[in-house]
Amino acid sequence: MIAVVKETATKDQLDHFVKWIEGRGFKTNVSQGDNETIVGIIGDTTQIDPFLLESMDIIERVQRVSEPFKKANRKFHPEDTVVECGHGVKIGGGNFQVIAGPCSVEGKNLFDIARAVKASGATMLRGGAYKPRTSPYSYQGMGEKGLDLLVEAAGELDMPIVTEVMDPRDVQLFLDKGIDVMQIGARNAQNFPLLREVGKTQVPILLKRGLSETIDELLMGAEYIMSEGNPNVILCERGIRTFETRTRNTFDVNAIPVLHHLSHLPVVGDPSHATGYTRYVRPAAYAATAAGADGLEIEVHNNPSEAWSDGAQALTPAQFDDAMRRIRLIREAVTAPVEEEK
Ligand code: PEP
Ligand code: MN
Repeated sequence: MIAVVKETATKDQLDHFVKWIEGRGFKTNVSQGDNETIVGIIGDTTQIDPFLLESMDIIERVQRVSEPFKKANRKFHPEDTVVECGHGVKIGGGNFQVIAGPCSVEGKNLFDIARAVKASGATMLRGGAYKPRTSPYSYQGMGEKGLDLLVEAAGELDMPIVTEVMDPRDVQLFLDKGIDVMQIGARNAQNFPLLREVGKTQVPILLKRGLSETIDELLMGAEYIMSEGNPNVILCERGIRTFETRTRNTFDVNAIPVLHHLSHLPVVGDPSHATGYTRYVRPAAYAATAAGADGLEIEVHNNPSEAWSDGAQALTPAQFDDAMRRIRLIREAVTAPVEEEK
């Protein structure tokens, strides 16, 4: 971290500042230029609040030179992380997986949807048993019965399941049921007690980007999980809230290569929540695949107009099948070896 000192600062003030920093266990490196003086602060600067330094009279501005996320950072872990999701399914490091299924688990139709998406090439099954709804009067999910249906479907179809956990008090239940991948939803992306709780397990975590989260904040969410000892984190770009109202959210496709640049963790794109309308889901899925996502999460329903949640963005099994054919082609194009530049 570097602190740029104001031109007006006296030598006494600068010495006092340096002493104050060193008194907190950091080393300093003062470089006096013609126009400005810079104090380099060396040590674990994640412990320093940059706003506190900037609030000091003699400090012009403060800049971090290393990111506050360490375990999620590609700098300290250059090779891609591959997360084992159960049933032999791996994601990341060249392993591409498609997670598909209904928004909510609704009952036995889960099995019809699961069979259809598997036949089209989905490798993981999704479905929410605990639903984070904006209104407390909307359908809240089947709860434990929904988890049981998912586990039954996972066994029958031999594919891992992804389902959202909303409450730290439910984590043990998810463990007892043998849930393969726990999803942290956008609304809980900064629910730090929940992140810590799932971090105490070794179960893969699909961490969605918060509604208004920056990329760095998403990575700090991953850091919460990893700092508790769980390295199995999958990041998910699911659209962010912007001024645009024509779509449910704005799909930040940029985030996919940016996350790959900054982090070694696998990155999944969710074109369903990113767009909110069935007609836009396929183009957004193709964009995410082309941008190098390690996987996609797509909502599929056998009868979208009757779905208990998110029917407006569900693909039918036929639409999903069509999407999968094109996704495979795009994936081939993206992963084909690059010819040497002449
Ligand atoms: C979901 O996956 O159904 C969901 C609620 O997603 P998000 O948290 O991204 O809104
Ligand atoms: Mn949904």
